[in-house]
Amino acid sequence: MTDVDLAVYWHDRMLDHEQPAGAFKHPSTPIVANDETHPDRRERVENIVATVEHGFPEESRFVEPERASRETIERVHDPEYVDWLEAFCADGGGRIGRTTTGANEATYDAARVAAGTAVAAADHALSERSGVPYALCRPSGHHAQPTQADGFCFLNNAAIAAEAALAADGVDRVAIVDWDVHHGNGTQEAFYDRDDVLFVSAHHDHGSWSEYHPQEGSLEEDGANDGSGYTVNVPLPPGTGDRGYERLFDEIVEPIVRGYDPDLVLVSAGQDAGTVDPNGRNLVTRGGFRTLGSRVRTLAADVADDRLALIQEGGYQPSHLSFATLGVLEGVLERLVDLEGYGHDDPMGWLDEPTELVDEWLDEAIDYHRTHWPVLTEPAVE
Ligand SMILES: [Zn+2]
Repeated sequence: MTDVDLAVYWHDRMLDHEQPAGAFKHPSTPIVANDETHPDRRERVENIVATVEHGFPEESRFVEPERASRETIERVHDPEYVDWLEAFCADGGGRIGRTTTGANEATYDAARVAAGTAVAAADHALSERSGVPYALCRPSGHHAQPTQADGFCFLNNAAIAAEAALAADGVDRVAIVDWDVHHGNGTQEAFYDRDDVLFVSAHHDHGSWSEYHPQEGSLEEDGANDGSGYTVNVPLPPGTGDRGYERLFDEIVEPIVRGYDPDLVLVSAGQDAGTVDPNGRNLVTRGGFRTLGSRVRTLAADVADDRLALIQEGGYQPSHLSFATLGVLEGVLERLVDLEGYGHDDPMGWLDEPTELVDEWLDEAIDYHRTHWPVLTEPAVE
């Protein structure tokens, strides 16, 4: 597995998971005449497979992972919750209460495959000395908390991969960078009082959305006890855009991750900050995602001996997700793909970015996190 630049961990079993149709992600309502497929639809990841096959035909290889074992899953999740999830799916699944999350009979198995996909990618990062591993997970994981499902997520793929990495020899610290436009509340919850995982999440300021998602993602949720300072939340305003994310990396993500000096960098790569995502409003283009990909690759090379694994999270406009994810992979692999008819552009990136509001919010985040990270008083190291 050392002869390609991109190792895509993927298994088509993850296509069998389906969430209930309704009015977008919500239950059916009389004021919407036609139910639609849930936004976590299989086309999302089918499109990414096509993106990789056509964008990087020579540079990539698909690798089938093993399912995560119960022991591996239970490093993060409560056994009673895992039992409940297995039984819920065996009974045919359905919507969980009145939430936006639902399962079918395949979901538990697909979630185990997704967790195994992330574990395999992290293992690749630690054991192979070439090629970037990319876990093309579905269902996503970063909202799944130790004791409950949430936000289209059932098992926390990134957290499970981090725990598996920490169980390996020579890994004492893992940094998880989460650029999904939603707060990675489940990952935060898993490591909130620990200092062996640094969790940095940049997200919309959506706050708590139900008893299934009690975390706020606020600046003040910054860890507890030994973990004090090792949860770094950066709320962002709608329309943050390419330039705002670049400033986020310049002035917060890179200085803190460099200060932490991890042995492995995991990226919760949800591209729902994209220009037209129905679940986000942050206007990041293919070019913006290319920058993010490039930045994490460089960062991991500098601080973690190039030990980097990408783990797919959200992204819900199926066509734009292809372009956004192509951008991430272009950045990570440091090459441009000229797609016939699309060139290097984002065909949906037509909105200008606001700037002043983004700068105000980032200034506030930098001031807050400086308490734990004095390195933020210094400019980003080049
Ligand atoms: Zn998301």
